[in-house]
Amino acid sequence: MNTEYDLAIVGGGAAGLILLANIFEKATQPISVVMINAGYPAGKGIAYSTNNSNHLLNVRVSRMSAFTHDANHFTKWILSKPEYSDYHKDNLAERFVPRKMYGEYLEDLFQSLVNSDNKNVSFSFINDEVIDLKKQGNSFEVVLKNAPFINCKKVVLCTGNQPPISLPGVSSIQSEKVFINPWDEKAVENIDQDKSVFIVGAGLTMVDTVISLIDQGFKNKIIVVSKHGAIPMAHPVVRVTVPHPEKAPASDIHEIYIDLKSRIRSAIDHTEWHEPVLEAVRPFTQKIWQELPIEQKNRFLRHINHRWAKLRHRLPHEVHDMIQSLIDSNQIELYAGKLLNVQENQNDLTIDFFDKSNEKKVTVNAQRIINCIGPEGDFDKVDNPLLRNMLSHGLISKDPLSLGFNATGDGRIIDKSGNVIENLLTIGSGLRGILWESTAIPEIRVQAHEMANKVLA
Ligand SMILES: Cc1cc2nc3c(=O)[nH]c(=O)nc-3n(C[C@H](O)[C@H](O)[C@H](O)COP(=O)(O)OP(=O)(O)OC[C@H]3O[C@@H](n4cnc5c(N)ncnc54)[C@H](O)[C@@H]3O)c2cc1C
Repeated sequence: MNTEYDLAIVGGGAAGLILLANIFEKATQPISVVMINAGYPAGKGIAYSTNNSNHLLNVRVSRMSAFTHDANHFTKWILSKPEYSDYHKDNLAERFVPRKMYGEYLEDLFQSLVNSDNKNVSFSFINDEVIDLKKQGNSFEVVLKNAPFINCKKVVLCTGNQPPISLPGVSSIQSEKVFINPWDEKAVENIDQDKSVFIVGAGLTMVDTVISLIDQGFKNKIIVVSKHGAIPMAHPVVRVTVPHPEKAPASDIHEIYIDLKSRIRSAIDHTEWHEPVLEAVRPFTQKIWQELPIEQKNRFLRHINHRWAKLRHRLPHEVHDMIQSLIDSNQIELYAGKLLNVQENQNDLTIDFFDKSNEKKVTVNAQRIINCIGPEGDFDKVDNPLLRNMLSHGLISKDPLSLGFNATGDGRIIDKSGNVIENLLTIGSGLRGILWESTAIPEIRVQAHEMANKVLA
């Protein structure tokens, strides 16, 4: 195995792959690139490894191209596939297709790079976990779990979404009936049809989990408890656009909130139509976020984030209607509240939670509890040895909100002493604390395009 590379891409989910594809496109000089990935199939990551065809993208086809300069790349790929010939080009762009299909798209893209005869890029893929990274002079020692270390001049961390390692508020429980990582397939396997299931969190991860349960014919109760007891809103069936604001909104969280509320009220008269107003502001979101003082970011997280999440992280209409019908029929019992205690009995779990609506403790029994609070951003609370090790020896540090890496807005890592580390870079979810909008493909593909330019410069 070669042990010297110009560039290492650590993590081969969608972000790492789209970065790699951009490097293949743009390289005009020879460059050796190694991608090191473990955990999920190359290119797919957590989001697109699902085999469930009812797990849909929450972004329309028209916005899911891997490439900023070829907006129809994904649409063209679907239309080129005989197995998807029932998708018609007239309405395809506005549809929400299965994430599994997007995974196949990324897999095809990965294979096309592996088989490419590009003369400038010498590409290697290592199926292994990076467990540490150390700066050695002008390069980096990339420490692998199952092989000798390799040296790389530049490293881009594309480590992506980190599964949570504890239940909110209940850290000590160890039980096979407690599923802390919702993306572990076991969380929805071997379901007992006669006992209810308890879910913490009411966002997109809860929706995936409920779909997996219902697909197995599960008819029992699903008890869902989240801080605010609200499910995400639906995308409008027909997408409308409103003009972008002429300039970025003010950098004061209160003014932004008032401004957005008045735009929504004056432009539009129906709850579904919040979407175009937020979409119109989206090009400014990263800039606004970076300019907000830390106390205003904290205020946003405390008081506005749940509303933002409900409006921004929307569901395809058909998925929203399905979840709502389960709530209406009482199969899903949805509570605003807080998990208090979980105790394992011989046959099931006894779970105490606080019900905000009547300010009382409620006790229920369930066969299992599934943690659907979403990815964990605080690197002190994740089970990724690379992130933990880099944090402990100070090569990386956490952003002030503990949502990911401390870095510059263009993805240059800042170490524990506050110094920008030359040639240590990142894109994707790890930049959430710095940019706020940094997890979905529309943002990732822009970052990948710009990062490729940076590493090739
Ligand atoms: C369930 C779910 C659904 C989503 N749906 C959508 C959607 O419909 N549309 C959209 O735009 N966005 C969606 N997203 C957002 C998603 O974050 C991005 O679309 C994208 O998948 C992120 O890719 P990534 O490469 O940054 O991260 P990941 O998908 O998390 O990939 C990171 C990869 O790096 C590997 N890795 C991590 N650490 C190491 C290490 N130390 N050594 C080796 N390998 C490592 C991981 O195992 C994984 O394979 C969804 C996210 C989730 C969780």
